[in-house]
Amino acid sequence: MSNSDAEIAAQSAQAGGARRPVVFRGGTVLTMDDSHTVLTDADVLVVDDKIAAVGPHLEAPGGALEIDASNGIVMPGMIDTHRHMWQTAMRAYGADWTLTQYFVWYYLEHGKHFRPEDIYIGNLMSAWESLESGVTTTVDWSHGLQTPDHAEAAVAALQAVPGRFVLAYGNIQAGPWEWTNDPAVRAFFARHTPTDLLAYQIAFDVTGDPSFPEKAAFEAARELGLPVTTHAGVWGATSDASIQLMHEHGFMTPETTYVHSATLTTDSYQRIAASGGSISVATESEQSAGQGYPPTWQVRKHDIPVSLSMDTSVWWSGDLFSAMRSTLGADRSREHLEAHAKGETVTNAHLRAEHVVDWATRGGAHAVGRDADLGRLTAGAKADVVLIKNEGSLVSFPLLNPYGHVAFQAQRGDVHTVLVDGRVVKHAHQLVGADLAAIKRSADATIDHVRGLLGEQAWTGGMHPELPGNDVLDNPYQYTEYKADSNRNARGSLFGEPGETS
Ligand SMILES: [Zn+2]
Repeated sequence: MSNSDAEIAAQSAQAGGARRPVVFRGGTVLTMDDSHTVLTDADVLVVDDKIAAVGPHLEAPGGALEIDASNGIVMPGMIDTHRHMWQTAMRAYGADWTLTQYFVWYYLEHGKHFRPEDIYIGNLMSAWESLESGVTTTVDWSHGLQTPDHAEAAVAALQAVPGRFVLAYGNIQAGPWEWTNDPAVRAFFARHTPTDLLAYQIAFDVTGDPSFPEKAAFEAARELGLPVTTHAGVWGATSDASIQLMHEHGFMTPETTYVHSATLTTDSYQRIAASGGSISVATESEQSAGQGYPPTWQVRKHDIPVSLSMDTSVWWSGDLFSAMRSTLGADRSREHLEAHAKGETVTNAHLRAEHVVDWATRGGAHAVGRDADLGRLTAGAKADVVLIKNEGSLVSFPLLNPYGHVAFQAQRGDVHTVLVDGRVVKHAHQLVGADLAAIKRSADATIDHVRGLLGEQAWTGGMHPELPGNDVLDNPYQYTEYKADSNRNARGSLFGEPGETS
Protein backbone atom coordinates (compact mmCIF):
# COMPACT_ATOMS: atom_id res chain seq x y z
CA MET A 1 0.00 0.00 0.00
CA SER A 2 2.63 2.49 -0.96
CA ASN A 3 1.86 5.51 -3.06
CA SER A 4 4.02 6.74 -5.89
CA ASP A 5 5.59 10.19 -5.76
CA ALA A 6 3.54 11.10 -8.83
CA GLU A 7 0.29 10.19 -7.09
CA ILE A 8 1.21 12.23 -4.04
CA ALA A 9 2.30 15.22 -6.11
CA ALA A 10 -0.92 15.06 -8.11
CA GLN A 11 -3.07 15.02 -4.96
CA SER A 12 -1.15 17.97 -3.57
CA ALA A 13 -1.43 19.95 -6.80
CA GLN A 14 -5.17 19.44 -7.25
CA ALA A 15 -7.45 22.37 -6.48
CA GLY A 16 -9.40 22.12 -3.24
CA GLY A 17 -12.80 20.63 -3.90
CA ALA A 18 -11.50 18.37 -6.67
CA ARG A 19 -8.76 16.96 -4.46
CA ARG A 20 -8.42 13.22 -4.07
CA PRO A 21 -9.70 11.98 -0.68
CA VAL A 22 -7.19 10.46 1.74
CA VAL A 23 -7.68 7.68 4.24
CA PHE A 24 -5.20 6.78 6.97
CA ARG A 25 -5.57 3.07 7.79
CA GLY A 26 -5.05 1.22 11.04
CA GLY A 27 -3.26 3.80 13.18
CA THR A 28 -3.32 4.78 16.82
CA VAL A 29 -5.45 7.92 16.58
CA LEU A 30 -5.16 10.74 19.10
CA THR A 31 -8.44 12.45 18.26
CA MET A 32 -7.89 15.28 20.78
CA ASP A 33 -11.66 15.56 20.95
CA ASP A 34 -13.24 16.96 24.11
CA SER A 35 -12.76 13.60 25.89
CA HIS A 36 -9.28 13.04 24.43
CA THR A 37 -10.46 9.79 22.89
CA VAL A 38 -7.63 7.51 21.74
CA LEU A 39 -8.47 4.83 19.17
CA THR A 40 -6.26 1.93 18.19
CA ASP A 41 -6.32 0.23 14.79
CA ALA A 42 -8.50 3.08 13.54
CA ASP A 43 -8.90 5.01 10.30
CA VAL A 44 -9.12 8.72 9.55
CA LEU A 45 -10.95 9.69 6.39
CA VAL A 46 -10.33 13.06 4.75
CA VAL A 47 -12.64 14.37 2.05
CA ASP A 48 -11.94 17.76 0.52
CA ASP A 49 -10.61 20.03 3.26
CA LYS A 50 -12.27 18.25 6.18
CA ILE A 51 -12.17 15.19 8.40
CA ALA A 52 -15.11 13.12 7.14
CA ALA A 53 -14.92 10.33 9.70
CA VAL A 54 -12.73 8.72 12.37
CA GLY A 55 -13.19 5.09 13.40
CA PRO A 56 -12.46 1.45 12.64
CA HIS A 57 -12.63 0.05 9.11
CA LEU A 58 -14.09 3.11 7.41
CA GLU A 59 -15.46 2.87 3.92
CA ALA A 60 -13.57 5.32 1.71
CA PRO A 61 -14.78 6.86 -1.55
CA GLY A 62 -13.44 5.24 -4.71
CA GLY A 63 -10.01 6.54 -5.63
CA ALA A 64 -9.13 7.62 -2.12
CA LEU A 65 -5.40 7.74 -1.43
CA GLU A 66 -4.71 5.00 1.11
CA ILE A 67 -1.97 5.67 3.69
CA ASP A 68 -0.88 2.81 5.91
CA ALA A 69 -0.82 4.19 9.45
CA SER A 70 -0.23 0.86 11.17
CA ASN A 71 2.49 1.10 13.84
CA GLY A 72 2.00 4.85 13.68
CA ILE A 73 0.23 7.67 15.52
CA VAL A 74 -2.28 9.87 13.73
CA MET A 75 -2.81 13.21 15.44
CA PRO A 76 -4.00 16.73 14.65
CA GLY A 77 -1.50 19.10 13.08
CA MET A 78 0.41 21.05 15.71
CA ILE A 79 0.13 24.81 16.16
CA ASP A 80 3.01 27.17 17.01
CA THR A 81 1.58 30.42 18.35
CA HIS A 82 4.70 32.61 18.28
CA ARG A 83 7.63 32.41 15.90
CA HIS A 84 9.69 35.22 14.39
CA MET A 85 9.82 33.46 11.06
CA TRP A 86 11.74 36.23 9.30
CA GLN A 87 14.83 35.38 11.39
CA THR A 88 15.13 31.84 10.08
CA ALA A 89 17.91 32.47 7.54
CA MET A 90 20.06 33.18 10.63
CA ARG A 91 19.44 29.65 11.92
CA ALA A 92 21.57 28.81 15.00
CA TYR A 93 23.65 32.00 14.69
CA GLY A 94 22.55 33.10 18.16
CA ALA A 95 22.80 29.71 19.85
CA ASP A 96 24.86 31.21 22.70
CA TRP A 97 23.01 34.51 23.02
CA THR A 98 21.18 35.93 25.97
CA LEU A 99 18.05 38.01 25.47
CA THR A 100 20.19 41.15 25.84
CA GLN A 101 22.44 40.08 22.99
CA TYR A 102 19.37 39.29 20.87
CA PHE A 103 17.92 42.75 21.54
CA VAL A 104 21.19 44.46 20.70
CA TRP A 105 21.70 42.47 17.50
CA TYR A 106 18.19 42.67 16.07
CA TYR A 107 16.50 45.67 17.66
CA LEU A 108 19.37 48.11 17.95
CA GLU A 109 22.00 47.16 15.41
CA HIS A 110 21.19 44.80 12.57
CA GLY A 111 17.45 44.09 12.28
CA LYS A 112 17.14 47.04 9.93
CA HIS A 113 19.50 45.40 7.41
CA PHE A 114 16.86 42.83 6.48
CA ARG A 115 15.29 43.71 3.14
CA PRO A 116 11.93 42.47 1.86
CA GLU A 117 13.67 39.59 0.07
CA ASP A 118 15.36 38.61 3.33
CA ILE A 119 12.00 38.60 5.11
CA TYR A 120 10.66 36.46 2.28
CA ILE A 121 13.32 33.79 2.49
CA GLY A 122 13.22 33.64 6.29
CA ASN A 123 9.49 33.12 6.19
CA LEU A 124 9.71 30.60 3.38
CA MET A 125 12.26 28.49 5.26
CA SER A 126 10.31 28.67 8.49
CA ALA A 127 7.01 27.84 6.80
CA TRP A 128 8.39 24.70 5.16
CA GLU A 129 10.15 23.78 8.37
CA SER A 130 6.81 23.88 10.15
CA LEU A 131 5.27 21.46 7.68
CA GLU A 132 8.28 19.17 7.85
CA SER A 133 7.86 18.84 11.61
CA GLY A 134 4.08 18.46 11.65
CA VAL A 135 3.28 22.06 12.58
CA THR A 136 0.36 22.84 10.30
CA THR A 137 -0.47 26.29 11.69
CA THR A 138 2.19 28.85 12.59
CA VAL A 139 1.74 32.34 13.99
CA ASP A 140 4.38 34.47 12.30
CA TRP A 141 5.27 37.05 14.99
CA SER A 142 6.59 39.29 12.26
CA HIS A 143 8.25 42.25 13.91
CA GLY A 144 10.73 42.95 11.11
CA LEU A 145 8.17 44.72 8.91
CA GLN A 146 9.88 48.10 8.55
CA THR A 147 7.82 48.95 5.48
CA PRO A 148 4.67 47.59 3.83
CA ASP A 149 6.98 46.11 1.18
CA HIS A 150 8.48 43.95 3.91
CA ALA A 151 4.94 42.95 4.90
CA GLU A 152 4.05 42.06 1.32
CA ALA A 153 7.16 39.86 1.19
CA ALA A 154 6.16 38.13 4.42
CA VAL A 155 2.69 37.43 3.05
CA ALA A 156 4.01 36.25 -0.30
CA ALA A 157 6.18 33.63 1.41
CA LEU A 158 3.34 32.40 3.59
CA GLN A 159 1.13 32.11 0.51
CA ALA A 160 3.85 30.22 -1.38
CA VAL A 161 3.85 27.38 1.16
CA PRO A 162 0.83 25.11 1.61
CA GLY A 163 0.47 25.58 5.37
CA ARG A 164 -1.90 27.51 7.59
CA PHE A 165 -0.53 30.77 8.97
CA VAL A 166 -1.35 33.84 11.01
CA LEU A 167 0.67 36.92 10.14
CA ALA A 168 1.09 38.90 13.36
CA TYR A 169 2.13 42.26 11.91
CA GLY A 170 4.86 44.07 13.86
CA ASN A 171 7.73 46.52 13.44
CA ILE A 172 10.51 46.90 15.99
CA GLN A 173 11.94 49.89 14.12
CA ALA A 174 9.06 52.21 15.09
CA GLY A 175 6.69 52.79 18.01
CA PRO A 176 3.55 50.65 17.79
CA TRP A 177 1.40 53.78 18.13
CA GLU A 178 3.17 55.09 15.00
CA TRP A 179 3.22 52.20 12.57
CA THR A 180 -0.28 50.93 13.40
CA ASN A 181 -1.63 54.33 12.37
CA ASP A 182 0.54 54.71 9.28
CA PRO A 183 -1.82 55.06 6.27
CA ALA A 184 0.45 52.73 4.28
CA VAL A 185 -0.01 50.02 6.92
CA ARG A 186 -3.76 50.60 6.96
CA ALA A 187 -3.69 50.25 3.16
CA PHE A 188 -1.93 46.90 3.57
CA PHE A 189 -4.83 45.67 5.69
CA ALA A 190 -7.31 47.01 3.16
CA ARG A 191 -5.57 44.85 0.54
CA HIS A 192 -5.30 41.77 2.76
CA THR A 193 -8.35 40.41 4.50
CA PRO A 194 -8.18 37.17 6.49
CA THR A 195 -8.75 33.87 4.72
CA ASP A 196 -9.11 30.37 6.09
CA LEU A 197 -5.40 29.70 5.48
CA LEU A 198 -3.97 33.12 6.32
CA ALA A 199 -5.27 35.22 9.21
CA TYR A 200 -3.83 38.34 10.84
CA GLN A 201 -2.94 39.69 14.27
CA ILE A 202 -1.21 42.84 15.51
CA ALA A 203 2.08 42.24 17.33
CA PHE A 204 3.66 44.72 19.72
CA ASP A 205 4.91 45.00 23.31
CA VAL A 206 3.78 47.25 26.15
CA THR A 207 6.71 48.76 28.00
CA GLY A 208 4.81 49.86 31.10
CA ASP A 209 5.37 53.59 30.47
CA PRO A 210 2.61 55.13 32.64
CA SER A 211 1.58 57.46 29.80
CA PHE A 212 0.60 54.26 27.91
CA PRO A 213 1.53 55.35 24.38
CA GLU A 214 0.55 51.85 23.16
CA LYS A 215 -3.10 52.81 23.71
CA ALA A 216 -3.27 54.10 20.13
CA ALA A 217 -1.97 50.76 18.85
CA PHE A 218 -4.64 48.83 20.76
CA GLU A 219 -7.25 51.17 19.32
CA ALA A 220 -5.88 50.58 15.83
CA ALA A 221 -6.06 46.81 16.32
CA ARG A 222 -9.63 47.20 17.50
CA GLU A 223 -10.52 49.29 14.45
CA LEU A 224 -8.98 46.62 12.23
CA GLY A 225 -10.85 43.91 14.11
CA LEU A 226 -7.58 42.03 14.78
CA PRO A 227 -6.36 40.30 17.94
CA VAL A 228 -3.22 41.56 19.70
CA THR A 229 -0.27 39.34 20.59
CA THR A 230 2.27 40.76 23.02
CA HIS A 231 5.46 39.68 24.80
CA ALA A 232 4.36 39.90 28.44
CA GLY A 233 6.28 39.22 31.64
CA VAL A 234 9.75 39.37 30.05
CA TRP A 235 12.55 40.07 32.52
CA GLY A 236 13.91 43.58 31.98
CA ALA A 237 11.40 44.44 29.25
CA THR A 238 7.74 44.00 30.15
CA SER A 239 6.12 43.43 33.53
CA ASP A 240 3.01 43.60 35.70
CA ALA A 241 2.81 47.32 34.93
CA SER A 242 2.17 46.47 31.26
CA ILE A 243 -0.65 44.11 32.21
CA GLN A 244 -2.19 46.68 34.57
CA LEU A 245 -2.24 49.33 31.84
CA MET A 246 -3.83 46.96 29.36
CA HIS A 247 -6.40 45.85 31.92
CA GLU A 248 -7.31 49.29 33.20
CA HIS A 249 -7.85 50.54 29.65
CA GLY A 250 -10.01 47.60 28.68
CA PHE A 251 -7.64 46.02 26.16
CA MET A 252 -7.39 42.54 27.69
CA THR A 253 -9.71 40.35 25.66
CA PRO A 254 -10.19 36.60 25.11
CA GLU A 255 -8.41 36.95 21.74
CA THR A 256 -5.23 38.37 23.29
CA THR A 257 -2.12 36.18 23.37
CA TYR A 258 0.43 36.82 26.13
CA VAL A 259 3.78 35.42 25.01
CA HIS A 260 6.15 34.09 27.74
CA SER A 261 4.38 35.65 30.77
CA ALA A 262 7.32 34.38 32.77
CA THR A 263 7.94 37.14 35.34
CA LEU A 264 4.35 38.06 36.21
CA THR A 265 2.83 37.94 39.67
CA THR A 266 -0.45 36.35 40.75
CA ASP A 267 -2.26 39.64 40.18
CA SER A 268 -1.38 39.65 36.46
CA TYR A 269 -2.19 35.97 36.02
CA GLN A 270 -5.57 36.63 37.60
CA ARG A 271 -6.22 39.53 35.22
CA ILE A 272 -5.32 37.29 32.26
CA ALA A 273 -7.48 34.44 33.58
CA ALA A 274 -10.46 36.71 34.23
CA SER A 275 -10.30 38.33 30.78
CA GLY A 276 -10.03 34.98 29.00
CA GLY A 277 -6.70 35.46 27.24
CA SER A 278 -4.16 32.72 26.63
CA ILE A 279 -0.45 32.36 27.28
CA SER A 280 2.03 31.21 24.66
CA VAL A 281 4.84 29.42 26.45
CA ALA A 282 8.18 29.24 24.62
CA THR A 283 10.01 27.06 27.11
CA GLU A 284 13.27 26.61 25.24
CA SER A 285 13.45 30.35 24.76
CA GLU A 286 12.65 31.24 28.36
CA GLN A 287 15.18 28.74 29.69
CA SER A 288 18.00 29.89 27.48
CA ALA A 289 17.45 33.58 26.74
CA GLY A 290 16.24 34.55 30.20
CA GLN A 291 12.72 36.00 29.87
CA GLY A 292 11.96 34.23 33.15
CA TYR A 293 11.29 30.70 34.36
CA PRO A 294 8.93 28.88 31.97
CA PRO A 295 5.63 29.71 33.66
CA THR A 296 3.43 26.63 33.22
CA TRP A 297 3.95 25.56 36.86
CA GLN A 298 2.23 28.83 37.88
CA VAL A 299 -0.12 29.23 34.95
CA ARG A 300 -1.84 25.90 35.56
CA LYS A 301 -2.79 27.09 39.07
CA HIS A 302 -4.81 29.86 37.42
CA ASP A 303 -6.39 27.64 34.77
CA ILE A 304 -5.23 29.95 31.97
CA PRO A 305 -5.27 28.40 28.48
CA VAL A 306 -1.76 27.54 27.28
CA SER A 307 -0.28 27.12 23.82
CA LEU A 308 3.31 26.35 22.86
CA SER A 309 5.77 28.22 20.69
CA MET A 310 9.36 28.11 19.44
CA ASP A 311 10.08 31.89 19.28
CA THR A 312 12.96 32.05 16.77
CA SER A 313 15.24 29.73 14.86
CA VAL A 314 18.16 32.08 15.42
CA TRP A 315 18.46 29.83 18.51
CA TRP A 316 16.01 26.90 18.26
CA SER A 317 14.42 24.80 15.58
CA GLY A 318 10.78 25.31 14.74
CA ASP A 319 9.42 21.99 15.91
CA LEU A 320 7.00 21.45 18.74
CA PHE A 321 8.45 18.11 19.80
CA SER A 322 11.18 20.23 21.39
CA ALA A 323 8.55 22.49 22.94
CA MET A 324 6.59 19.61 24.44
CA ARG A 325 9.69 17.92 25.80
CA SER A 326 11.25 21.03 27.30
CA THR A 327 7.94 22.19 28.78
CA LEU A 328 7.43 18.89 30.58
CA GLY A 329 10.99 19.07 31.83
CA ALA A 330 10.78 22.66 33.03
CA ASP A 331 7.45 22.20 34.78
CA ARG A 332 8.48 19.02 36.56
CA SER A 333 11.90 20.42 37.39
CA ARG A 334 10.29 23.40 39.09
CA GLU A 335 7.75 21.26 40.91
CA HIS A 336 10.54 19.08 42.34
CA LEU A 337 12.66 22.11 43.22
CA GLU A 338 9.80 23.87 45.05
CA ALA A 339 9.02 20.68 46.97
CA HIS A 340 12.65 20.03 47.90
CA ALA A 341 12.96 23.57 49.24
CA LYS A 342 10.23 22.63 51.71
CA GLY A 343 11.82 19.28 52.48
CA GLU A 344 9.08 17.48 50.59
CA THR A 345 9.01 14.94 47.78
CA VAL A 346 6.79 15.08 44.70
CA THR A 347 5.13 11.69 44.40
CA ASN A 348 2.80 12.49 41.50
CA ALA A 349 3.76 15.03 38.85
CA HIS A 350 1.04 17.48 37.90
CA LEU A 351 2.00 17.91 34.26
CA ARG A 352 1.49 14.91 32.02
CA ALA A 353 2.54 14.08 28.47
CA GLU A 354 -1.12 14.26 27.52
CA HIS A 355 -1.27 17.88 28.71
CA VAL A 356 1.56 19.09 26.49
CA VAL A 357 0.13 17.25 23.47
CA ASP A 358 -3.13 19.08 24.21
CA TRP A 359 -1.28 22.42 24.39
CA ALA A 360 0.51 21.72 21.09
CA THR A 361 -2.80 21.04 19.34
CA ARG A 362 -6.00 22.23 21.04
CA GLY A 363 -4.19 24.94 23.01
CA GLY A 364 -2.86 26.46 19.81
CA ALA A 365 -6.26 26.21 18.13
CA HIS A 366 -7.80 28.08 21.05
CA ALA A 367 -5.16 30.80 20.94
CA VAL A 368 -5.86 31.51 17.27
CA GLY A 369 -9.63 31.41 17.74
CA ARG A 370 -10.13 28.08 15.99
CA ASP A 371 -11.34 25.79 18.79
CA ALA A 372 -14.09 24.38 16.63
CA ASP A 373 -12.15 23.21 13.62
CA LEU A 374 -8.40 22.99 14.34
CA GLY A 375 -6.35 20.97 16.83
CA ARG A 376 -8.68 17.97 16.74
CA LEU A 377 -9.48 15.00 14.55
CA THR A 378 -13.25 14.95 14.62
CA ALA A 379 -15.78 14.81 11.81
CA GLY A 380 -16.20 18.26 10.33
CA ALA A 381 -12.89 19.64 11.57
CA LYS A 382 -10.32 20.91 9.11
CA ALA A 383 -8.12 18.16 7.72
CA ASP A 384 -4.79 19.21 9.26
CA VAL A 385 -3.37 15.79 10.05
CA VAL A 386 0.00 14.39 11.09
CA LEU A 387 1.13 10.76 10.89
CA ILE A 388 4.07 9.92 13.13
CA LYS A 389 5.59 6.69 11.90
CA ASN A 390 9.11 5.58 11.17
CA GLU A 391 9.49 1.99 10.07
CA GLY A 392 13.23 2.42 9.91
CA SER A 393 13.60 3.48 13.53
CA LEU A 394 13.96 1.43 16.68
CA VAL A 395 12.22 4.24 18.54
CA SER A 396 8.93 3.53 16.76
CA PHE A 397 8.06 0.56 18.97
CA PRO A 398 6.55 -0.61 21.19
CA LEU A 399 3.75 1.92 21.09
CA LEU A 400 2.51 1.61 24.67
CA ASN A 401 1.75 5.18 25.68
CA PRO A 402 0.98 7.30 22.62
CA TYR A 403 1.03 10.68 24.43
CA GLY A 404 4.34 9.77 26.03
CA HIS A 405 5.60 8.64 22.65
CA VAL A 406 4.74 11.96 21.01
CA ALA A 407 6.09 14.11 23.85
CA PHE A 408 9.29 12.28 24.78
CA GLN A 409 10.22 9.87 21.96
CA ALA A 410 9.23 11.30 18.59
CA GLN A 411 11.09 13.92 16.58
CA ARG A 412 10.67 15.64 13.25
CA GLY A 413 12.29 12.81 11.29
CA ASP A 414 9.50 10.54 12.51
CA VAL A 415 6.85 12.74 10.88
CA HIS A 416 5.83 10.55 7.96
CA THR A 417 2.85 12.33 6.43
CA VAL A 418 1.31 15.77 6.90
CA LEU A 419 -1.95 17.11 5.50
CA VAL A 420 -3.04 20.73 5.60
CA ASP A 421 -6.60 21.53 4.58
CA GLY A 422 -6.85 18.05 3.07
CA ARG A 423 -3.73 18.52 0.94
CA VAL A 424 -0.72 16.22 1.26
CA VAL A 425 2.27 18.45 2.03
CA LYS A 426 4.66 15.79 3.34
CA HIS A 427 4.68 12.09 2.58
CA ALA A 428 7.09 9.24 3.25
CA HIS A 429 9.25 11.72 5.23
CA GLN A 430 9.60 14.06 2.22
CA LEU A 431 8.08 17.51 1.73
CA VAL A 432 5.91 17.74 -1.37
CA GLY A 433 6.82 20.58 -3.70
CA ALA A 434 9.60 22.27 -1.70
CA ASP A 435 12.61 23.23 -3.84
CA LEU A 436 15.27 22.95 -1.16
CA ALA A 437 18.14 23.84 -3.50
CA ALA A 438 16.47 27.10 -4.52
CA ILE A 439 15.60 27.91 -0.90
CA LYS A 440 19.21 27.32 0.12
CA ARG A 441 20.49 29.62 -2.64
CA SER A 442 18.20 32.43 -1.44
CA ALA A 443 19.17 31.86 2.19
CA ASP A 444 22.84 32.05 1.21
CA ALA A 445 22.15 35.35 -0.60
CA THR A 446 20.57 36.80 2.55
CA ILE A 447 23.53 35.70 4.65
CA ASP A 448 25.97 37.17 2.11
CA HIS A 449 24.08 40.46 2.30
CA VAL A 450 23.97 40.68 6.10
CA ARG A 451 27.50 39.39 6.58
CA GLY A 452 28.77 41.84 3.98
CA LEU A 453 27.17 44.78 5.80
CA LEU A 454 28.51 43.68 9.18
CA GLY A 455 32.05 42.81 8.10
CA GLU A 456 33.84 39.68 9.27
CA GLN A 457 34.73 40.90 12.74
CA ALA A 458 31.21 41.93 13.72
CA TRP A 459 29.76 38.85 12.06
CA THR A 460 32.01 36.46 13.96
CA GLY A 461 31.79 38.44 17.20
CA GLY A 462 28.01 38.42 17.00
CA MET A 463 27.96 34.65 16.79
CA HIS A 464 30.44 34.13 19.63
CA PRO A 465 29.63 36.36 22.58
CA GLU A 466 32.35 36.75 25.18
CA LEU A 467 32.66 33.88 27.65
CA PRO A 468 32.54 35.26 31.19
CA GLY A 469 35.33 34.21 33.53
CA ASN A 470 34.71 31.14 35.60
CA ASP A 471 37.00 30.09 38.41
CA VAL A 472 36.92 26.38 39.12
CA LEU A 473 36.72 25.99 42.89
CA ASP A 474 39.54 24.62 45.01
CA ASN A 475 38.92 20.98 45.76
CA PRO A 476 39.88 19.75 49.27
CA TYR A 477 39.75 16.12 48.11
CA GLN A 478 42.64 16.56 45.69
CA TYR A 479 45.15 13.68 45.95
CA THR A 480 48.74 14.49 45.11
CA GLU A 481 49.26 11.18 43.31
CA TYR A 482 46.13 11.71 41.21
CA LYS A 483 46.57 14.65 38.86
CA ALA A 484 43.42 16.60 38.09
CA ASP A 485 44.68 16.96 34.52
CA SER A 486 44.33 13.24 33.89
CA ASN A 487 40.65 13.50 34.66
CA ARG A 488 40.00 16.13 32.02
CA ASN A 489 39.86 15.90 28.30
CA ALA A 490 42.72 16.89 26.07
CA ARG A 491 41.52 20.50 25.91
CA GLY A 492 41.69 20.87 29.66
CA SER A 493 38.85 22.54 31.50
CA LEU A 494 36.11 23.91 29.26
CA PHE A 495 35.08 26.48 31.82
CA GLY A 496 38.17 27.97 33.39
CA GLU A 497 41.41 27.45 35.25
CA PRO A 498 41.53 25.07 38.21
CA GLY A 499 42.60 26.46 41.56
CA GLU A 500 46.13 25.72 42.79
CA THR A 501 45.88 22.76 45.11
CA SER A 502 49.27 21.06 45.28
ZN1 LIG B 1 9.29 36.37 20.71
